[in-house]
Amino acid sequence: MVEDNLKNILKELPPEVKLVAVSKFHPVEDIMAAYNAGQRRFGENRPQEFAAKAAVLPPDIEWHFIGHLQTNKLKLVLPYASIVESIDSMRLLEAVEKWGADHGRVIDVLLELHLGAEETKGGFTEEEIENILSRSCSHVRFRGLMGMATNTDDASVIEADFARIEAFKKSLEERLALPGFTELSIGMSHDWLLAVRHGATIVRVGTAIFGPRN
Ligand SMILES: *Cc1c(COP(=O)(O)O)cnc(C)c1O
Repeated sequence: MVEDNLKNILKELPPEVKLVAVSKFHPVEDIMAAYNAGQRRFGENRPQEFAAKAAVLPPDIEWHFIGHLQTNKLKLVLPYASIVESIDSMRLLEAVEKWGADHGRVIDVLLELHLGAEETKGGFTEEEIENILSRSCSHVRFRGLMGMATNTDDASVIEADFARIEAFKKSLEERLALPGFTELSIGMSHDWLLAVRHGATIVRVGTAIFGPRN
């Protein structure tokens, strides 16, 4: 089943767009089914669960951490993550910078733009992101933007969210010379096709690959 779901998505996903298979709540057996079908990029959002899985799964998996991250959980996540997509506060950014300095590492990150109607959703404003990008960090490499659209069935609302983050990324690229700042991570199971039309370079798909989370 996992293999068929993957195949169906890859049939429609342009080859230059990276598919993150979001495996949260699903057991390592399901991840291995996707792995054996060729998938190498996976996403998790809970530090404890992520560390436990990463420790036992093949080392050539490219892990994307996509969840809210508390600063006291960095030690669970940063040894394994290829990229942290969900940098959503200055406090977290500073803690990642410090962890990188302490461990002689440069950590790839995306900055999360607060999209969508929900107040509870994390992320920065456009202005905050501009401020962050105007400074230099020596142990964090800014690779692009991440966003989660409003949780709704109304495609026009989702589309407006995607259009906003797409335009912001373009404007950053035009005004600031940011080498390596290329990624736009938007789109989940129900809206990844729409995200691709709005310039997504990364889509994060869980349910459509692994089925519902219990
Ligand atoms: C769970 C999750 C996804 C995947 O959601 P699906 O609807 O299952 O595809 C994508 N992005 C983030 C940040 C998530 O937490």
